[in-house]
Amino acid sequence: MRLLLVEDDPMIGASVHSGLRQEGHSVDWVRDGAAAELAIANGVYELILLDLGLPRKTGLELLAGLRRKGVALPVLVITARDSVADRVKGLDAGADDYLVKPFDLDELSARIRALMRRQAGRATPVIEHGPLALNPATHEVSLNGSPVNLSGREFALLQALLEQPGVPLSRAQIEERLYGWDEEIESNAVEVYIHSLRRKLGAEWIRNVRGVGYRVPEIS
Ligand code: CA
Repeated sequence: MRLLLVEDDPMIGASVHSGLRQEGHSVDWVRDGAAAELAIANGVYELILLDLGLPRKTGLELLAGLRRKGVALPVLVITARDSVADRVKGLDAGADDYLVKPFDLDELSARIRALMRRQAGRATPVIEHGPLALNPATHEVSLNGSPVNLSGREFALLQALLEQPGVPLSRAQIEERLYGWDEEIESNAVEVYIHSLRRKLGAEWIRNVRGVGYRVPEIS
């Protein structure tokens, strides 16, 4: 999952950043409110982890601004402010959940999973495409009812393709979905994931569109 971490504290930021990456998430980290706004406007995030006390624009201002603009991304507020008044302000401004520092990474991960499940419950929980089914909340994929075991990045790639069947995604678009800004991308990484998805699902599910990219076939 691609996450945006907004945190100005270098120690906490670094520990959350590396902890979530180890769990297979793709995490971009910005250190002030204005940079966060820019990243959200240009990025493809599924969840925002937001500190409240930030330079250049506070987390509350940022959050209220996003919700005014109708941005419905789930936001998990992480903050040292543990007074009831601040918590209420955060939730009123549109936060989906709240975690008070210091917190345990396992708890953060559990809250992220819970938010994604809730998010999935609001929309269609399972993406179905013929005999292929993908559940974004549980990260499960099945083909003809049998489970298919995918790595985190294989799953993200398949999800990106299944969101618009028939529409090809270029290698650059796929890299954008799968990697954070500062992650080193091997030049053939996308081809490796495509190869592996074909091996696990059957080559007919991932079509090459010459000179353009890859797509899953439409089902008539
Ligand atoms: Ca702070």
